[in-house]
Parts: sequence; C-alpha cells; structure tokens
Amino acid sequence: MNKSVMFRKESESLNEDFDPPPQSSLNRYAVDDDCEQPALPFLSSIQSHEVGTPHIRLLEGGKPKFTSSPRSADFRKRFFPEATKSDWNDWHWQIRNRIRDVGTLSRMLQLSQGEREALTFHSANLPLSITPYYASLMDRSDPTHPIRRAVVPVTAEYQRTAGESEDPLSEEHTSPVPGLVHRYPDRVLFLSTDFCSTYCRYCTRSRMVGDSKSHCSNTNQWEQAIAYIEDHSEIRDVLISGGDPLTLADERLEWLLSRLRRIAHVELLRIGTKVPVVLPQRITPALTRMLKRYHPLWMSIHFMHPEELTPEVEQACGRLADAGIPLGSQTVLLAGVNDEVDTMKRLVHGLVKIRVRPYYLYQCDPIIGSAHFRTSVQKGLEMIKGLRGHTTGYAVPTYVIDAPGGGGKIPLLPEYVVGWEGNDLLLRNYEGKTYRYPDYCN
Ligand code: SF4
Repeated sequence: MNKSVMFRKESESLNEDFDPPPQSSLNRYAVDDDCEQPALPFLSSIQSHEVGTPHIRLLEGGKPKFTSSPRSADFRKRFFPEATKSDWNDWHWQIRNRIRDVGTLSRMLQLSQGEREALTFHSANLPLSITPYYASLMDRSDPTHPIRRAVVPVTAEYQRTAGESEDPLSEEHTSPVPGLVHRYPDRVLFLSTDFCSTYCRYCTRSRMVGDSKSHCSNTNQWEQAIAYIEDHSEIRDVLISGGDPLTLADERLEWLLSRLRRIAHVELLRIGTKVPVVLPQRITPALTRMLKRYHPLWMSIHFMHPEELTPEVEQACGRLADAGIPLGSQTVLLAGVNDEVDTMKRLVHGLVKIRVRPYYLYQCDPIIGSAHFRTSVQKGLEMIKGLRGHTTGYAVPTYVIDAPGGGGKIPLLPEYVVGWEGNDLLLRNYEGKTYRYPDYCN
C-alpha cells in the first residue's frame, strides 16, 4: 500500500496552477544552469564586508544565472542523479519532484520512530510535501533539526490539547465571500490558492491548504472576491496569500494582479509567501519583471530559521528587492526551533543583510496538534528583550499574538514602562537601568 495515501489528497487544480510560462519566455530566461563558478558561502559564514555581493551574476551575453550552493549540488547528485543542474534550478522540476511519501523521505533521512509512525499510520489534515531544494537543507540523522521539524510530521501532530481549534483566527466567520477574509476595516486577505510547494506542520491554515475542496484557485471564486472588493471602497489594501500565491503560473498571477490594480480604491497590493525560502528558483527574472508592473507591491516572506538563509535565498530576495519590492519577514516562534535569542538574532541579522526587514514575530497559533510547537508568551517577550537595544532597530520585529476568535494582531512588549512618580515617567532601558522622562507639557 502506498503510504502517502494516508495523507489528505492535494488539490486537484494543480495543473492549472503549474502551467509553465510560454516557451518563448522560458527560452529567454531559463538561465539557471551551468553553475561552474564557485558557489557563494552560506550567509552565516559571510563576513560583513562581503555583504552586497552581486546576487545576479551574468553569463556571457548578459543573461542572469542562478547559483546553487555546494550543499544542494551534493544533495542533487546523491538523491536525484538523473537531474541536471538545469533541472534542479527549474522551479517546475522542483514542484514535480517534491517529496510526498514516506518511501522517498526514508531514502533521504534516517527517520525517527515518531516520524515514521506519523508518516505511516496516521491520517493528517495537512499533506506531506517538501521541495527537493528545501529537503537538501535538512539534517539526515537529526530529527530535532529545525528545518526537519518544520516540515516532517511527528505523532504529536495528532494530539489535540485544550484551547486548540481548526480555525483559531475565526477566518471562516469573517469571510464575506469564499476565499476572502475581511477582518480589518481597510484591508482584506485574498486566498488565491490552497497549494504550497512545501507544507509547514504548524500552518495556521492547515484546515484548508492542500485541500482539493477549498476551490481557492477557482476562477469563479476569484471573480466573486474581486467583485466584493470592487463594491467596498473602504478596502485600500489587498494581501494575496493562500496557500502560496507564488506557486501560481506567471500568467495566472498577473491576471489577478491586473484585475486588482484596475480597482481605483485599492492603493496597495501585498503578497504573502514562503516560496523565496522553499523554492527560490521560482524567483525568475520573468516573474520579477511582471511583478514590478503592479507597484506599489509589497511582499511578506515567511522565514523561520537562519539555516534558511542560503546563497539561493539571497539571490531570490536580491532579485525581488532589485525589482523595487519592499520585503518584510514573518516568523512564527516555534519551541525548540527558533526560540533562543541567539538563533533569532542570527536570523534577523541575516535578513537585513539580504534586504528583508524583520516585520512580525508571531506567537504560534493554537491550531489542532500544535502543542509541541508552541512556546510560552514569556519566551516571546524574552526574544524581544534580547533584541531591542541590543541590535539595529530595523532588525527587531513586532511580536504579536493573532487573537483567537478573530481579534486581530495584538502587539506585546516587555515591561519598559515602570510607572509614574509625580510628573516623571519611569522607564527601563534595554540594560535594565531606570530613567526618568518629564511627562508634562505647558
Ligand atoms: S507556506 Fe504558509 S500557507 Fe503554506 S503551509 Fe507554510 S505556513 Fe501554511
């Protein structure tokens, strides 16, 4: 019996999403191959004076090329010996060859008992799917490796604890039409697809991603959502998310962006994605040229750990930043994955080096089976205390809890305000020293 059938089947609308760009554009921009030059070192080992290395290297004739790291090149030769460099650097190949069953995964990793049981005997809401590129970042023998923990299921995922729910943010209750969430007054969340190339085991939308019944990428559903936005002139900001919108074909994504851009009261378009991290090969010159036609366009990228900051990711983010797209990161605080100040500091420092502004640090949402990922709120406050004042302000994200029940994002700060003494405000700084501010005016 094929063990992968234990997981919910992925969307059947995938073919629509993965139609490749026209051959003409592939010929012009399929340049991610023949990477014979030395690869860039991993960012963690780049000295500060090396930051700013050109991320788009030019072949003779002026074509940009995508550089693979030695790590992913070794992984390709070992587990995909038939694949060429060109295959590996083609995002369609990465999606076609993503890892979706226990048999394939067990060739690549020494699975722990918990991982094997989870993959073999249990049914899960969320399918298993990992791009070969992202799999190349996992430690083969250590089941506690952060990237491995984020994408390989364990049996704890099937244990429900108090306070958990399928839809903790009550998105379904703030959805005026299918595929659209209107929680805040002037902005909406547009669920453009249910598909992701790689599924995170702690996903807030695990109730619907990878689900063929969600119809998120159905054109009729898109039309209904667009009509709603057209009818609501208070909406000035549309966040396109999913699933992952950057798994849509260029033409399909452009269709959506162009339809939204035509609505006069929509000032800002945003894309929420993890693709630059799990599938950096997707960030092609053709894609960035298309995206820059729809400015102002911002992008929130889901980063989790400093080990994600590879040469490939640096190139992908460089291409997006060069296209004038402001980049922010969104990071979920995860127990045993990124909940040490030193780890978080390495992540935010790496992000600013590749021109991504750490934007939000999220307390993990209480989805069903998330207890093994959740930290205390105190831990989150410790992260901010360990960053604020100790490093560049641009590198300090806002720590938030997305309030269960649909209350929206609520920021949390360590206790910097001690209190008042007469007209003096007493403040505690990052070193724990107390200062006075004369809190009165004429
Ligand atoms: S990429 Fe985002 S939407 Fe997709 S599984 Fe991960 S958290 Fe969920």
